[in-house]
Amino acid sequence: MKILAVSDTVVDKLYSPRVGEYFRGVDLVLGCGDLPYEYLEFLVSSLNVPLLYVPGNHDPAYNEHNPSARAEGCENLDRRVARVKGLTVAGLGGCHRYQPGRANQYSQPEMYARAAALLPALLWQRLRSGARTDILIAHSPPRGIHDDDDLPHHGFSAFLPLLRLARPRYFLHGHTLVYKSNLEPPVTQVGPTTVVNISPYRLIEVAPHVR
Ligand SMILES: [Zn+2]
Repeated sequence: MKILAVSDTVVDKLYSPRVGEYFRGVDLVLGCGDLPYEYLEFLVSSLNVPLLYVPGNHDPAYNEHNPSARAEGCENLDRRVARVKGLTVAGLGGCHRYQPGRANQYSQPEMYARAAALLPALLWQRLRSGARTDILIAHSPPRGIHDDDDLPHHGFSAFLPLLRLARPRYFLHGHTLVYKSNLEPPVTQVGPTTVVNISPYRLIEVAPHVR
């Protein structure tokens, strides 16, 4: 299973009429936020495979008052669990709150509540299928892993117990840019989970399901 994950920055090589040629054989696209919806729509129509994403802090709120704030043909995975191409994927969008009243920004306690709301569906999926969650996608990293000292780039503490309980195979995120102040490698192993900073894109080969 070949996965193209994208985040934060539009890349010319992907926003190209030749993207289908460059990324032949990709089975699934995952978006970790802060990308124009036209870019996601271009990728889903060019590659013709499912695309699931979470919103970042620069994306508009998607709710009953703003139903058009979505990428057409793609699936918003925020606070949801989905089965796609034999994989269980789940998502939690947003970043640490740094401006009051803005969409897709959350305090640490708010993200604890969002993670707690997602957990029963993850555990139920595991009971039903007998397998761990394959991929959890988020916009922000966990606290202390690939995050930064400035408030907008603080990682979420809630993701640490979520990783311990749900034990996903992969945790993919964006939001913190590798070239800024993150000097550590953008891939970190946390228990059974491989945490990967996607910005701006990455191809990931996911082995078939493991129990
Ligand atoms: Zn961001």
